[in-house]
Amino acid sequence: MIIYIELDEYDKAIEISKSINTLTDYLNKDVKDDVEILLYQNLASAYTYKKDLNKAELFLKKSNELLKYDEVEYIRNKDINLKIAYAQFYEEQGKYDEAIQIYEEILKSPLKNDFNIEVKIYGEIANIYLDKNDIERYIKYNNLATNKKDNFEDKLKDEYMKYASKLYESDKLREEQDKNIHNIIILLVSIIFLIIILISRINANIILKKSNFTDVMTNLYNRKYLDYYMKKNKKHIVNNNISVILTDIDYFKKYNDYYGHIKGDKVIKEVANSIIENIKNYGIAIRYGGEEIVIVLPNTNIDEAKIIANKIQSSISEKNIEHKHSNVSDKLTISMGVYSKVYLYNDNIYSIIDNADKALYKAKSNGKNRYEIH
Ligand code: GH3
Ligand code: MG
Ligand code: MG
Repeated sequence: MIIYIELDEYDKAIEISKSINTLTDYLNKDVKDDVEILLYQNLASAYTYKKDLNKAELFLKKSNELLKYDEVEYIRNKDINLKIAYAQFYEEQGKYDEAIQIYEEILKSPLKNDFNIEVKIYGEIANIYLDKNDIERYIKYNNLATNKKDNFEDKLKDEYMKYASKLYESDKLREEQDKNIHNIIILLVSIIFLIIILISRINANIILKKSNFTDVMTNLYNRKYLDYYMKKNKKHIVNNNISVILTDIDYFKKYNDYYGHIKGDKVIKEVANSIIENIKNYGIAIRYGGEEIVIVLPNTNIDEAKIIANKIQSSISEKNIEHKHSNVSDKLTISMGVYSKVYLYNDNIYSIIDNADKALYKAKSNGKNRYEIH
C-alpha cells in the first residue's frame, strides 16, 4: 500500500486498504488496533494526495482516536507516522508553516534510529522550501536527506552482512539438519531486504528528481526548473507584470585568460551569490549559459526590476573582485538587459528572455558595466 502511494497510484492503495480492512477482524484486539491505526494513516495520505481533503481529515481523526487508546505496541513509530500524515495534509493545503513545525517536532523527538523516517522528513521539508522558492533552505534540506539516505543504506548493508554471516555459521553447525528450513529463511531475509531497498530507492528517486533542477556549481536553478516553474505558477503569472533580467560578466574571457579557469569558476559563483541574495522572495535565477544568468521576476514591474538590477550591480561592486584586464574598471563588473511586460496566456518565457538579450546587447554596446532596458 505504501509503495502504491509512493508511486502515485492512490486508487490502488485505497483498494488494497479496503481488502486489508475486511481481514482485521481475524486479528486479536491489540494487533488489530495497530494495523488499523496504520491503515487509516495510509488512507489519509492517499486521500490527501488525491486532494480529497474531507476524507483525508476523516481518516486522520479515526487514526488519532485509536492511537489515544492504544496500549500494546506491536508496530512502532505509529505516532510519528500519524504526525507525518497530518503534515502532508497541511502541506497539500498550502499551510507550509504548520507542516514544517510538525516535521521539526518529529526531528526533535527520539526517532529510535529510524533513518528512513529522517530521510523522508528532510525530503518533505526540502519540497516545501522548493514550493516556497527558498532556494538556500531547499538545498540545505535536500543535502541532509541525501546524507541520511546514504547512512541508511550503509546501515542496511551492515545489518544484512551480519545476518548473512550468522546464517552461514548456524548452517555449518546444523549441517545434519534439514537444509530446507535454511533455504526458506535465506529466501525470506532476501525478500525483506529487497523490499527495504525498494522503499529506500523510491525515496531516493523522489530526492533525485528534485536535485535534477539545480546547477551543481552555482546552486542556481537550471532551464528544466524554469520550464517547471513557469508551468506550475502560470495561474499567478498570467495577466500580471513580469520582468526578466539577463546578466553577463564583462570581459570574462580576459579574466579566464589572466587568472585561470578555477578562479573564473569562483567568480561565477560570487556573481550567482550576489544575485540570489538580492532576488530573495521576488523570483528565481537560472544558470542560462556558461556565465549568463537569467533572473525571472513574476509580479514585478520595470521600476521594481530596475531597483533589483541596481542592487545586484552594487553588491558585485562591493565585493571588489580584482580584474586588471577589464577595459571598463579595475574590478569585476557585469552588464544586464532588462525587459518587462504583462505576461499573457500564450506568452513564452524564452521570447521574453530574447528581448532581455536585446537589452543586454545594448548595454554591452553602450560601454558595459550597466543595465539597459528594451
Ligand atoms: P563581454 O564583456 O562582451 O561579455 O566579453 P566576454 O569576454 O565576457 O565574452 P563572452 O561573454 O562571450 O564570453 C564568455 C566566456 O565565459 C567564454 C568562456 O571562456 C567563459 N566561460 C563560460 N562558462 C564558463 C565556466 O563555467 N567557467 C569559466 N571559468 N569560464 C566560463
Ligand atoms: Mg557571455
Ligand atoms: Mg561576458
